[in-house]
Amino acid sequence: MDYLFKRMAIVGLGLIGGSLARIAREKRIAEQIVGLGRSRETLELALAAGSIDEYSLDLKQGSGHADIVVITTPVGVVVDVVREIAGSLKPGTIITDVGSVKKKIVEEVESFLPFQLHFVGAHPIAGTENSGFQASFAQLFQGARCVLTPTARTDAPAAAKVKELWEQAGCDVILMEAEKHDRIFAAVSHLPHLIAYSLVNTVIDTEEKEGGLVNFSAGGFKDFTRIAASHPVMWRDIFFMNKENVLPLIDHFTKVLEELKSYIVQEDSEQLTAVLDKSRRFRRKIN
Ligand code: NAP
Repeated sequence: MDYLFKRMAIVGLGLIGGSLARIAREKRIAEQIVGLGRSRETLELALAAGSIDEYSLDLKQGSGHADIVVITTPVGVVVDVVREIAGSLKPGTIITDVGSVKKKIVEEVESFLPFQLHFVGAHPIAGTENSGFQASFAQLFQGARCVLTPTARTDAPAAAKVKELWEQAGCDVILMEAEKHDRIFAAVSHLPHLIAYSLVNTVIDTEEKEGGLVNFSAGGFKDFTRIAASHPVMWRDIFFMNKENVLPLIDHFTKVLEELKSYIVQEDSEQLTAVLDKSRRFRRKIN
């Protein structure tokens, strides 16, 4: 079977980048895989695991001969990486990312990228609360969805190749406008993470007063702590970059919480039960 790419460069060999390197090797997606990043230690780990053929700490030099560069860093540095490497890439190179926020990245990259380079925004909906190369595994993307956010400017053959990349990695690929992507993920992912962080911090404050509280934590709270164990820098960047959608949702959430509070204060059984019942019916529908 022919390789999809002759030389693939992956910038940031963490959970997502490491898992992509592993599956690309396993499924023979790319003949050569070069790891790029900021720390030798991470890149040495990937090399020792046989997931990459070589590595470089020099992003420009390392991406020079690639047919595709996949940027798997936190979202806050994706555009800077594109800016740094663009001048060193050969014409026709595809650049793609995996960021959990899409509109700002796609818009900014398209504003300066030379026409002979092709950017395709992507977001594989796969992950765990763990981070770093040590947490990566080849099956991470198996059965997951991957959203691509092509625009009117996107090169169609480049988008088709990125689609093929994620399909070979095990994903079901869907196309969506970047703006819509960011609205959806603000609601189903970014706000839930923010709530998990605030909830765990509330319990930490109570623990300081009460002591020994965590010994009594049950399943529900453990689920929240798992979500709140996600990488702080990755999530800081996501909240900042998608604040346009996250901030109105925080207001809405606060309003719902205040309503619940008032039903408890007033001991309004009917209203409180109605809200709890609405959530329960929703959950049963998506099961
Ligand atoms: P991760 O495990 O923390 O990996 C991030 C990688 O990026 C690390 O290898 C890190 O290098 C590197 N990096 C960080 N800052 C850098 C910089 N300034 N220059 C060069 N490299 C840098 O994070 P992840 O979970 O793989 O997430 C990566 C991306 O995937 C994010 O954009 C995130 O939005 C997206 N994503 C995450 C998930 C998820 O659930 N985790 C799901 C879908 C999409 P070091 O090794 O030196 O620290």
